[in-house]
Amino acid sequence: MIRIGVHNSANGGIINVIKEIEFLKTNSTQFFIHSPRSWDIKDLENKEVNLFLKLKQKLDINPVVIHSSYLISPLSENPQTVEKSLNLIKKELENSSKIADYYVLHIRENRKKDIKENLKEINKFFEKINTDYKIEILVENSASGLTSDLKNLISFYKELKKFRIFGGICLDTAHAFEGGYDIKTDKGVKSLIQDIKDLKLIKLIHLNDSKTKLASKTDRHEHLGKGQIGKEGFKNFFSFKEFKNIPLILETPKKSLNDDLKNIQTAISIIEV
Ligand SMILES: [Zn+2]
Ligand SMILES: [Zn+2]
Repeated sequence: MIRIGVHNSANGGIINVIKEIEFLKTNSTQFFIHSPRSWDIKDLENKEVNLFLKLKQKLDINPVVIHSSYLISPLSENPQTVEKSLNLIKKELENSSKIADYYVLHIRENRKKDIKENLKEINKFFEKINTDYKIEILVENSASGLTSDLKNLISFYKELKKFRIFGGICLDTAHAFEGGYDIKTDKGVKSLIQDIKDLKLIKLIHLNDSKTKLASKTDRHEHLGKGQIGKEGFKNFFSFKEFKNIPLILETPKKSLNDDLKNIQTAISIIEV
């Protein structure tokens, strides 16, 4: 069975996510556990956690993914930001682990330092965090910077996997394309596979088309099939059976949930060939 969902809205509480899922008839979800542009976070209440878990089971929603907030920057040049990131990620992990299977994290490097230094710093950061939670952190590839190169993303994962909480990677198709992997072609997909090597590490795919050109290093998501990757491009990507049974989350543009419905339909038509 295809596992597919979209980035849902938890505005008004996590139960709103379930309402959207019921409307969209999806069986997976991603959302922010609090406003992603705020350092403030309110703990989930037991009552809402219990209700959410009950409905997760009843509606067979799996995986539930929490996207980390945009402010979290473990490798920032500003020590204050690192400290604040530390406090916020602790809170996010504690709360996310109550309801979710995966927690997706971007690692923006400190551009003043080389990759070795960055790997050392990220270690120090996670040594200060309780990593015994029952949730898996997935590191996501980016459109620009160090982790736009999948070899570097894998280096970060390998460095961090000694912390039991790190479970693998999240592959964003738009970011891969914007980062320079031409997944429209066999050659591009093969180079992506070669850089990841162990494809079992991909626990989640962010299925997005890209508004910007190959290797643009500029991240702009587009409706599936309407962007630079296009329907045929995605068909080529999924003709590699390695990607077939990985859960999909769409982060495509939306004015209303009807946009999600259309993109889900396109996604299904792409993979079911
Ligand atoms: Zn993404
Ligand atoms: Zn993106």
